[in-house]
Amino acid sequence: MADSIFARIINGEIPTEFIYEDEHCVAIHDINPQAPTHVLVIPRRPIEKLSDAGPQDQELLGHLLLVVAKVAEQLGVADAFRLIVNNGANAGQTVFHLHLHIVAGRSFKEGQLTGGLN
Ligand code: AMP
Repeated sequence: MADSIFARIINGEIPTEFIYEDEHCVAIHDINPQAPTHVLVIPRRPIEKLSDAGPQDQELLGHLLLVVAKVAEQLGVADAFRLIVNNGANAGQTVFHLHLHIVAGRSFKEGQLTGGLN
């Protein structure tokens, strides 16, 4: 299967600013932001979607959540952000390389689950 756009961003083929990076993941601004802050945290390991993750990914998945908190802090939105993972085309996933959306800077109505994202 061809590399996803995120694999090509991670390997440097598509120059993109990393607002955070470490040996396990990167964070980039979403190209089509749905809110004033819309960042993607993307593992370097190419897991297609969350439901494909297994026990071997346990540490990585925990790491990604800690990075989300760190990036939210870095962006000044740690007190109010929404974290979204679209799993599967029918849930709105368009890039099949696991990624976590951090969305912040606009109001989220109580009970509004998706926050308008997909
Ligand atoms: P999803 O629909 O959950 O698969 O999310 C994919 C996200 O990737 C969308 O919000 C797109 O706007 C975003 N996206 C696609 N291509 C790029 C890119 N080259 N740089 C940054 N974000 C991108």
